[in-house]
Amino acid sequence: MAPGVTAEKKTEDEQSSKNNVIHLSNPHLEKMKDDILYHFALGTGTHDFPALFGDVKHGMGIPSIAIMLHELVKLLYHSKCSNVTIIRIGTSGGIGLEPGSVVITRQSVDATFKPQFEQVILGKTVIRSTDLDDQLAKELMQCSEEINQFNTVIGNTMCTLDFYEGQARLDGAICSYAEEEKLQYLKAAYDAGVRNIEMESSVFAAICNLSGVKAAVVCVTLLNRLEGDQISSSHDVLVEYQQRPQKLVGHFIKKRLGKV
Ligand code: URA
Repeated sequence: MAPGVTAEKKTEDEQSSKNNVIHLSNPHLEKMKDDILYHFALGTGTHDFPALFGDVKHGMGIPSIAIMLHELVKLLYHSKCSNVTIIRIGTSGGIGLEPGSVVITRQSVDATFKPQFEQVILGKTVIRSTDLDDQLAKELMQCSEEINQFNTVIGNTMCTLDFYEGQARLDGAICSYAEEEKLQYLKAAYDAGVRNIEMESSVFAAICNLSGVKAAVVCVTLLNRLEGDQISSSHDVLVEYQQRPQKLVGHFIKKRLGKV
């Protein structure tokens, strides 16, 4: 039984299961006044959940980007494209960086900090390299220095299979560890060179590697995960943050085209 959960609470939970209502296996949630569900753009403090409840389906993470890349690579092949560079831009959780910082990925690492992507193929685990193009990362860093509008670093990016427990959050529907364990893990990630966490870079790097495509990953950090889990900046601030990777990559493209 989780610390602090009494026998009475357990009986209540068993009753909930019988009534087919949702059961949250996370003692931390009870202490939160406002619970922000970032991907749904909803918060318990700002929205009437019972009135708004409905089915929501998402397209994000490794499976979604892998499907898209398989078809994009075939499209490029059939179009006889050459010297292709693909840059993933997006959002992430930062580690030890001020929110709004941009991370250009040196290496995409898994949740054990190894630079690899594991894919089960025909029942066997195949390990694929997640190397990214060093020179391209440096060129992008140079672009950030030229536009000089926000903090940018080159660092490792941890790619996870999950936004909540997989990224050591305390605010998912299920949480099986204590806050100190979470912080220990994030600090170990920082020591391994990880500066941000997202959910697409590993398979992105692996597929680009196998297809002869030069690749880079440029993600803005929406929060500092050493300070919290919830993405609570205002909508306008988040919109501005999300434009940063686009600005940087936009400058890179213009430079490559000789327009700046
Ligand atoms: N995307 C993620 O995968 N994690 C975050 O913390 C923010 C955006």
